Amino acid sequence: MTSGTSVWDDVVGQPEAVSVLQRAASDPAAMTHAWLVTGPPGSGRSVAARAFAAALQCTAGPADQGSTGRTAPGCGRCRACTTTLAGTHPDLTVVATDKVVITIDEVRDLITKASRTPSGGRYRVIVVEDADRMAERTTNVLLKSIEEPPPHTVWVLCAPSVQDVLPTIRSRCRAVVLRVPPASDVADLLVRRDGVEPGLALDAARAAQSHVGLARRLARDPEARTRRRAVLEVARRIRGVPDAVLAASELVEVAKAEATASTTERDAAEKAELLRALGVGEGDTLPPKLRSQLKQLEDDQKRRATRRQRDVLDRSMVDLLSLYRDVLVVQLGAEVELVNSSHADVVRSLARDATPEQTVRRMDAIGQARERLEGNVAPLLALEAMTIALRPQG
Ligand SMILES: [Zn+2]
Repeated sequence: MTSGTSVWDDVVGQPEAVSVLQRAASDPAAMTHAWLVTGPPGSGRSVAARAFAAALQCTAGPADQGSTGRTAPGCGRCRACTTTLAGTHPDLTVVATDKVVITIDEVRDLITKASRTPSGGRYRVIVVEDADRMAERTTNVLLKSIEEPPPHTVWVLCAPSVQDVLPTIRSRCRAVVLRVPPASDVADLLVRRDGVEPGLALDAARAAQSHVGLARRLARDPEARTRRRAVLEVARRIRGVPDAVLAASELVEVAKAEATASTTERDAAEKAELLRALGVGEGDTLPPKLRSQLKQLEDDQKRRATRRQRDVLDRSMVDLLSLYRDVLVVQLGAEVELVNSSHADVVRSLARDATPEQTVRRMDAIGQARERLEGNVAPLLALEAMTIALRPQG
């Protein structure tokens, strides 16, 4: 990698992936027109995809890059780089969806865009951040375009794992696999880019188990740290069944509140946008034939809120799991770093009050609750079973 700034700077802890993508961007012989970037949540799939897109568009000449020529495109300074990273480059399309599914109409629209020649950039790049959120029928529409794209079109699909996309898509894409970055790399990024104090950055990176977005939120938002601490404290507070039932409902309520807080503003903005697009003024009565479109949007938003609540709950359980993992580390006297180094008091007190076997059983109970939640069991039911299993065993 070149020293100084480059578009790859924010792709933390992924040297192998970066070198593959860099080579493709600099050497036409190493270039492929359909990519599948996979990696666990928070590993930086969309960051890597955008960096790649920027490197493909980068217009910096050899003079800007030293004597070696186009060895490492993606200077991070030229207009092509900065607009691509900002998502405003005219030849870049990013489908960033927090919607539950990407619709067939959206994909048809993408295919139309993909067929156009670049308006001025070197490539037309289409990034689909959640390629796993497509129904099979939708995916099939995409196949031909991915298989034989126009010469200057590049598809970059992202998904948690290759198993999350259909084999027909997989076989037509070149795979780039991201790993969980080391906590120290994530901490460095927080210090460098967000000006976070190094100690706090490392605590946050460990607590978030290297999930870059979460680590940033924990480092910058004191309320996020308070909420996380509250989740961890739940473990210590449960003494009997009544506490357990109460704790379960608290966890669900906190998740609901957080999900609502993060979606309300956006829901209102989307609704205003739709009404504007339909030509309906504020306070006008909606004509009956347009009502179904509004209903569709509201249904999507409701599904998104539910999904968000489940995501927040799952995150709470991952936090609890990390706590008991730390408890086990202490109980077994293993010489490894604690995930919750900033909550060592909670860890030690739980370690004193139980045996390693009990800790393992509790971890199993948390894992089971996550599975139930994934399988659409009512959140409160799944969590009550879990919190009851967390109470002290005589
Ligand atoms: Zn550049």
